[in-house]
Amino acid sequence: MPVTLLGVPFDGRSSFLAGAAAGPARIREALYSPARNLCVEAGWDLGGAPGWQDRGDLDLGGPGDPFQQIEGAVADLLGRGERILTLGGDHSITLPLVRAHARRYARLTVVQLDAHPDLYDELDGDRLSHACPFARIMEERLVARLVQVGVRAATPHQLQQAERFGVEILRAADWRSLRSLDLAEPLYLSLDLDCLDPAFAPGVSHPEPGGLGTRDLLEILQGLEGRLVGADVVELNPLRDPLGLTAVVAAKLVKEILALLMERRGEAADS
Ligand code: MN
Ligand code: MN
Repeated sequence: MPVTLLGVPFDGRSSFLAGAAAGPARIREALYSPARNLCVEAGWDLGGAPGWQDRGDLDLGGPGDPFQQIEGAVADLLGRGERILTLGGDHSITLPLVRAHARRYARLTVVQLDAHPDLYDELDGDRLSHACPFARIMEERLVARLVQVGVRAATPHQLQQAERFGVEILRAADWRSLRSLDLAEPLYLSLDLDCLDPAFAPGVSHPEPGGLGTRDLLEILQGLEGRLVGADVVELNPLRDPLGLTAVVAAKLVKEILALLMERRGEAADS
């Protein structure tokens, strides 16, 4: 199944800081930099490997509702039998992304890696804020199950929302328990870079101390069992990433997630 890398340069629903719209370009810069290679940790090379392609960024410059444009474009690609790894962009884009995936895949399990539950009913009057996508996803009954990992900034309101929607929350200290959950496929992964500790990934709009290490996160990704059918990596804010280190972390995660989508997890170099 062909795998597509797709940028969504959108930060129109960021509540605090703009900047994430420039995320896809910075992640690509890090991904294709001659400072590194395109090998995954299992030891094979994505560079020149068949089975994946970079389709560049969605053009959201024209008239029309950006969420409808995102959902429509992704639905088209899914209709061609592609699996998509989307680069954000702020986390609001996960609503149209999951809407498109839910039309193609029944009973999705979503694993959300995030410091925040993003379950606000509304924030500053905006129900489509990047603080709200998972409230909409659960209200619209788009997925069978939502498991949040890395949470450490939940408010009482968001915990009530989690209970109301049956969202499972693994707090940052408990990320290892993910292994013992029996995650049903098909799986969709939504990775907010602020799940990482700011020591590893400072370049986000809402850094929250006490998060996952990069090695922990790689262990989570490499240990994911089940068929991954789609993913997003969101919330890189280049304005907060002056050395570009968070972009380098994001690019490494992108490589490992591409391998999962290509169903080449754990594959040795010579196989
Ligand atoms: Mn977050
Ligand atoms: Mn988020």
